[in-house]
Amino acid sequence: MPDRTKFVLDEKDMPTSWYNIIPDLPGELAPPLHPATDEPLGPEALAPLFAMELIKQEMSPERFIEIPEEVQAVYKTYRPSPLNRALQLERDLGLPPGVKIFYKYEGVSPAGSHKPNTAIPQAFYNKQEGIKRIATETGAGQWGSAMSIACALYDMECAVYMVGISYDQKPYRRILMESYGAEVISSPSTRTNAGKHVLEMDPNSLGSLGIAISEAVEDAATRDDTHYCLGSVLNHVCLHQTIIGEEAILQMEMADAEPDVVVACVGGGSNFAGISFPYYKRRADGKSSARLLAVEPKACPTLTAGEYRYDLGDEAGLTPKMMMYTLGHDFVPAGIHAGGLRYHGDSPLVSLLAKEGAIEAVAVHQNACFDAAVQFARAEGILPAPESSHAIRAAIDEALAAREAGEDRTILFGLSGHGHFDLAAYEAYNTGKLEDYDFAAGSMCEGA
Ligand SMILES: *Cc1c(COP(=O)(O)O)cnc(C)c1O
Repeated sequence: MPDRTKFVLDEKDMPTSWYNIIPDLPGELAPPLHPATDEPLGPEALAPLFAMELIKQEMSPERFIEIPEEVQAVYKTYRPSPLNRALQLERDLGLPPGVKIFYKYEGVSPAGSHKPNTAIPQAFYNKQEGIKRIATETGAGQWGSAMSIACALYDMECAVYMVGISYDQKPYRRILMESYGAEVISSPSTRTNAGKHVLEMDPNSLGSLGIAISEAVEDAATRDDTHYCLGSVLNHVCLHQTIIGEEAILQMEMADAEPDVVVACVGGGSNFAGISFPYYKRRADGKSSARLLAVEPKACPTLTAGEYRYDLGDEAGLTPKMMMYTLGHDFVPAGIHAGGLRYHGDSPLVSLLAKEGAIEAVAVHQNACFDAAVQFARAEGILPAPESSHAIRAAIDEALAAREAGEDRTILFGLSGHGHFDLAAYEAYNTGKLEDYDFAAGSMCEGA
C-alpha cells in the first residue's frame, strides 16, 4: 500500500476543550510582579485591561478548559488544520523508510498563521463582557491581522498600533487589517501620551514593539469600552493554542505513528506551546516519549543564551515583570526577517519547562532557515513564513542526524504559517542579500 500524505480529521471529532498545563508543571510557576513595586499581581490589577474570563484562565488550576460553542463554531471555519506527511521532502532528502517527517499546518487560518486560534476566543470573551473595542499592537502585522478578523467576526472595533517602520515599509498586512475593518495607527502616534513623549524626543522615531505596546495599553487603560489583547507569551494564549497539539495527536493516530520528536519555532512561545503541551501531557500519561524541541534564531537566542530571571515584558516598563528566559528588556535584536521571533523574553510556561529540562532548545541562523524553507516549498508546495522556517530547519536536521546514525525517527513539526506576505525576505534570500547575525554584538556572523 502506498504511503498516505494527508490525515484528515472530521470537524465533528475536533477537540472541545483546551489543555491547561499549569496543574502538570514540573516546578513552581512564579507569579507576575508589579513593574514598579515588585509585589505579586492579583487578578484585580489586570481587570482594567483584560476580560475576567481570560484573567481566570491565566491562573487556572483546571486541567481542561471547555472551548465555548461559539468559539468552536468559528474554529470550524478553518479547523481542524491539516496534518500531512512530507513524503516528497523525505524523498528529496533521501531518507530511509524508518525516518519520517510530518507537519501540522496552521497557515490555513484567515490570517495565515496560528494566531487566530487565540484572537478568536480573546475577542469572544471580551464581547461577552460588554467590551466594544480592542486595542492592540503589531510588529509586521501578523498578530494585528488575526485580531482584526476576530473583532470583525464579533462585530467589535479594533485599533492596531503598528510599528512605524513596518507601517511604512510593509503595507500589505496593513491593507489586510484595514480591509477587515480595523483602524491601523502608525506608532509612535500623537494619540497617546506615550507616543507624544517619544515624538517629542525624536520626531523621526521609527517606532518599536515596546513603544507600540505602551500606546495600545494606554489606549485601553484610558477608555471604558476598550480592552487590550496580546498575541503570545501569556498563559491564556498558550492555552488557546493547545488545539493544535490536541488535533495533531488524533491525526498522528490516524497515521499510525507516534512522534519521537516534536519541533516548533519560538518567538513568545505560543505555537510551540500549542503543539508541544498536549504531547507533554501524553508523555506524563505514559503514551509518548517524544522529545520537545524549541527552535529560535541565533540573532535572538532567548532560551539557549538568555538568563532565567524576572524581567519586564516591554521596553517602557508598563507590563508586569515575569519569570522567564530573557536577553534583557532593552535588548534590540538584529533585523532578521522572522519578525515574530524577535522578542527578548519568552512565555513563563515554556521558560519553566526549559529550566526544568522538560524541553530542549536549539538556535539556528536565518540563511540556513531559508535554505530549508525553499527546499520545503519545492517539495511540498507551501511557502513557509520566515518564523516557521526555523522549525523546518531543525526538523530536517533531526532527519539527517537519524539517517547518519542509522536510526529510525518520526519527526512532527509545527508549520506555524505561510509566507505570502514575506516575499521581500525571499527576494533578499534569492538574490544572496540575506545576512546572518550572532547574538553577542548583534553583529554579522563570520563565514555565513
Ligand atoms: C507570531 C508568529 C510566530 C511566533 O510567535 P509564537 O508566539 O512564538 O508562536 C511564529 N510563526 C508565525 C507564523 C507567527 O505569525
